[in-house]
Amino acid sequence: SEKEPTDINALADEYFKLSYHGLRAKDTNFNAELITHFDQSLPKVNAIPQDLGRVLLNMINNAFYSVNQKSKTAGSEYKSRVEVSTRQTDSEVHISVKDNGIGIPASIKEKILQPFFTTKPTGEGTGLGLSLSYDIITKAHGGNLRIDSIEGEGAEFVISLPVTQ
Ligand code: ADP
Ligand code: MG
Repeated sequence: SEKEPTDINALADEYFKLSYHGLRAKDTNFNAELITHFDQSLPKVNAIPQDLGRVLLNMINNAFYSVNQKSKTAGSEYKSRVEVSTRQTDSEVHISVKDNGIGIPASIKEKILQPFFTTKPTGEGTGLGLSLSYDIITKAHGGNLRIDSIEGEGAEFVISLPVTQ
């Protein structure tokens, strides 16, 4: 696959819906508030859509998984929320996937990008998503990944991609 001018908003929106409807088809009790903030003047990014799509899909699936885990122990006042947003800064495009789920414990923060690291039961996770994503973002697209989390409160993954490559 080759790089082509890619509409990041359309790609993110497509995978957000795909992921949510897929999860709800498997589990009719699954529920989450979906929030999008797409910068309508976002420039197209020279990217490999299939690869970037896999990155987004994994991050969105991870976010839904996290809020679903939290909803099992949280009180009824808990409202699960996943937010996907885009914005432009200087010469970069930023894509953020943010959830108010279980968050990432400090003790595993350094490990989550390693291949095969997963906290999910067998069959639910391979631990390959973020490690592959990191390579796709940095090596194939010259971008970067920032991870912010407060344990117990949620996590945010921010991909930054240069607009011109
Ligand atoms: P997998 O989803 O197969 O476990 P990933 O590489 O996608 O593999 O993620 C690795 C681990 O990082 C997850 O098992 C989980 O512990 C942690 N993680 C990833 N995304 C989130 C998130 N949004 N909230 C909390 N933990 C996360
Ligand atoms: Mg994953």
